[in-house]
Amino acid sequence: MLINGVLVPFVSGNVDIIYNPANQEPVAQVAVGTRQDARLALQAAKKAFPIWSATSSQERAKILHAAADLVRQRSEQITRLLTLEMGKPLNNAKMEILSSADVLDFYAEEGKRNFGEWISSSHSRSIVLRQPVGVAALITPWNFPVDLLAWKVGPCLAAGCTFVAKPPSKAPLAATEFVRAVSDAGLPAGAANVVHGPGSEVGAELVENPISRKIAFTGETQTGREIMAHAAAHIKRVSLELGGQSPFIVCADADLEAAAAAAAQRAFSNMGQICISVNRIYVAEEVAEPFTEELVLRAERLKIGDGMLPDVDLGPMFSRAQRQRTKEHVADAIEMGAELLTGGQEPEGEAYEKGYFFQPTVLGEADHSMRVMREETFGPVAPIMKFKTLEEAIALANDSEYGLAAYVFTNDLKTALRAAEELEAGGIGVNVNNVVDLQAPFGGWKESGLGRELGHYGLEAYLETKHIRLGM
Ligand code: NDP
Repeated sequence: MLINGVLVPFVSGNVDIIYNPANQEPVAQVAVGTRQDARLALQAAKKAFPIWSATSSQERAKILHAAADLVRQRSEQITRLLTLEMGKPLNNAKMEILSSADVLDFYAEEGKRNFGEWISSSHSRSIVLRQPVGVAALITPWNFPVDLLAWKVGPCLAAGCTFVAKPPSKAPLAATEFVRAVSDAGLPAGAANVVHGPGSEVGAELVENPISRKIAFTGETQTGREIMAHAAAHIKRVSLELGGQSPFIVCADADLEAAAAAAAQRAFSNMGQICISVNRIYVAEEVAEPFTEELVLRAERLKIGDGMLPDVDLGPMFSRAQRQRTKEHVADAIEMGAELLTGGQEPEGEAYEKGYFFQPTVLGEADHSMRVMREETFGPVAPIMKFKTLEEAIALANDSEYGLAAYVFTNDLKTALRAAEELEAGGIGVNVNNVVDLQAPFGGWKESGLGRELGHYGLEAYLETKHIRLGM
């Protein structure tokens, strides 16, 4: 763990083993933190806050750029750790680490644009300041343990806040090395801390302890709900990036090859363990056949294997539990009348015996009675349902408690705009399969979250507003 600028051993004396999901071999032994470790880290962050918040935004920018450079310098090592602990192929892991460095560079500059306001009234003048909220608790999941942490670390530090990060307990290695690189770039001791350990203990302490004034969380909707309830005790600021169940609408006039390629990539990459994965495909009935054929072809072309091997498209799933949930969702869909078009089971062969591998799966004849169309599978499954009219497709897409991302493929501008306006989600992809852009807001509607990350919105999440009124 990293507390007050130094790597410290555990206080509790417990250790945990991190296993490689591709072969279940041990990767590392890590400290298991306790509430006591979390408290020490919070106190360190509190002590560092007056120093870091008083540092000029230009100086903070220099340190954040240096941090980005250090992450790039150490990217080979962090990439390897990420693949070993989480399973994603090396090239995907490398992209994640490099994009995390880009986030730091972006917020280094964005921090300089934390402008205030001057307002003139008849009897007074008002100055509006935006000041750092204080110590932040940054709690993150295992599917993108470095990138999702960078989305928080960058704006948090740029705003002048200090933090304690709680990486996922079963994949804490790359995230810890990322924060270590940031800390080594010249931050005051205690500005950046990491405590590993179970969410129910370390995470809970970070949320409940009055020292933290801001909670930035990415994870499951149910965990987010609990965090929000606990944060209410001290009226803490919360940003929640939660689960998704993203619809993907293919209109009759769409470029079908492009749509199938986009759907395959976003449904299966990272083994479907992405909050904005394509989870439900709605295709116009007149083009359902060619679209489905192309999607199945693309699913069958993907190479599955240990992420450490070259040229692998898909690694293992993160855990036995993740794979089990995926199997259950596929079995439920088939029982409810879905047609298994490809995949649906573990790949055969010695290379796959010990890992949590699963074939990319396409299901036809899906409908909303199936769990795969209503719950977050978080696995490589693409269920397809046909529609007759755009109204019907939009109504089906909106028939969910989630609202993170939604996609529509069409070559008609009016259709695109209508769908984009009527779909209930924080991010709409029109003829693209990704709604993440470093410069634009990212976040969910409905039970997919609260607040926004990335762009200047990401910085605002770490700032409080102050009005200073001057009598004239
Ligand atoms: P969890 O909610 O289980 O865990 C996320 C983090 O919260 C982990 O570090 C976990 O610790 C910690 N935690 C668990 N319980 C508590 C608690 N009571 N108090 C404080 N912290 C706690 O999510 P997963 O790790 O399973 O991640 C998958 C989920 O993340 C999916 O639902 C996915 O949709 C969502 N997600 C959302 C994204 C978005 O931007 N909207 C992006 C990516 C994923 P521990 O590891 O010890 O359990």
